[in-house]
Amino acid sequence: MQKNYFQKDMETMPIEEIKKIQNEKLVKQVKYVYDNVKYYRDLMDKKGVKPEDIQSTDDLYKLPFLKKDDLREAYPFGLLATDIKNCVRIQSTSGTTGKRVVAFYTQNDVDVWEECCARAIVAAGGTNGDVCQVAYGYGLFTGGSGLHGGSHKVGCLTLPMSSGNTDRQIQFMMDLNSTILCCTPSYAAYIGETLKEKGYKPEDNKLKAGIFGAEPWTEEMRRDIEKSLGIKAYDIYGLTEISGPGVAFECEEQNGMHINEDHFLVEVIDPDTGEVLPEGSKGELVFTSLDKEAFPLLRYRTRDICVLSREKCSCGRTFVKMTKPLGRSDDMMIIRGVNVFPSQIEAVLLNCGYAPNYQIIIDRVNNTDTFDINVEMSKEDFSDTPKVITNKEKQLQSAMKAMLGINPKIHLVSPKSITRSEGKAVRVIDNRKRLGITV
Ligand code: ADP
Ligand code: ZN
Repeated sequence: MQKNYFQKDMETMPIEEIKKIQNEKLVKQVKYVYDNVKYYRDLMDKKGVKPEDIQSTDDLYKLPFLKKDDLREAYPFGLLATDIKNCVRIQSTSGTTGKRVVAFYTQNDVDVWEECCARAIVAAGGTNGDVCQVAYGYGLFTGGSGLHGGSHKVGCLTLPMSSGNTDRQIQFMMDLNSTILCCTPSYAAYIGETLKEKGYKPEDNKLKAGIFGAEPWTEEMRRDIEKSLGIKAYDIYGLTEISGPGVAFECEEQNGMHINEDHFLVEVIDPDTGEVLPEGSKGELVFTSLDKEAFPLLRYRTRDICVLSREKCSCGRTFVKMTKPLGRSDDMMIIRGVNVFPSQIEAVLLNCGYAPNYQIIIDRVNNTDTFDINVEMSKEDFSDTPKVITNKEKQLQSAMKAMLGINPKIHLVSPKSITRSEGKAVRVIDNRKRLGITV
């Protein structure tokens, strides 16, 4: 079979040469950050590290980590490394109003990001003869614009559908002969189900591949989607802080995602001690950008738990492969593709006059996440008039929606009815675990 790559030289470069490029870029990027980002310079000074101490990737461990909290503290401009005039784009993490992280891009940053997405599309079999339906959300969320840009770079006919309006998605998919579908895996599954409900068989559509990511999904889900849409389903990984989707992408082997190592240096660390672990160990992924101009991050802790592998891949790519994220080392939940922290829910409860006695229950029914929050009423608040309770639930629901960007179902429950725990409170019951979904 003819192998296809978007940037063959880079994607199949012998690892020794990739390492050489990484060393050169790293030395430059560290100096650039030190000279231009006061926030990180202060961290380096505090640790007693100077740019000259970093001569190769072997010295990486000397640098301080960056965490999501640093990004919040430095919000909005504190980690910007260039004049705002040189920036052409801002994107932001999904739906986390209280804890928003914004990332800036120069034109070159956008180009690199889109090239990474183009690599993913080509690895999934995409060419300029394809019709690429982008059904990730457009807007601040990186999914839509990342794959949109990648699709342009490959030369596909791009259908910028954004997410939602499933009837229209299906109509365009059928009428315009879409061959590649890009969206979250749960939306892909939903489109598959809807097609079936409408009486279509998998062979009725022209789709051949799907590029699905931004949230955890299982091998079972992959098989279901492949069957219902009659396609091959490929995984794609990314995070806004490090540019968006396309940090890593799956090839025809469909067993792990190649990390675009010419742009992103990866380490795996012990989340408790911060110690760098040998390749093949399970730990937290840490990324260092190598050629970012606007928002370069050094040693950014993703909180995603993964394993890396350098086993030779039959696709010919030499970039290291990461497993699907196997869990997270913080309490972030991803519900319907949106990042949600229990602390945000607590903040809303306190604001609305409730004590933080609550329990979050998440499940996945018909491939869609369900999101329920049980909240205890205080004795004073307690009412046995259903109408009063329903009104209060509605008020709380809209306050939650404003904070989280998604709508939970609120259930006000009687005082002291949520079991008190003697140790760490069990705030989250994630029943998706029974489906093997780990985040
Ligand atoms: P995105 O816009 O890609 O959702 P966010 O910055 O909002 O990016 O969220 C990034 C997080 O989403 C990652 O740290 C990871 O936990 C999760 N994620 C992204 N892609 C995948 C994937 N393919 N599989 C599992 N989790 C993923
Ligand atoms: Zn491969």
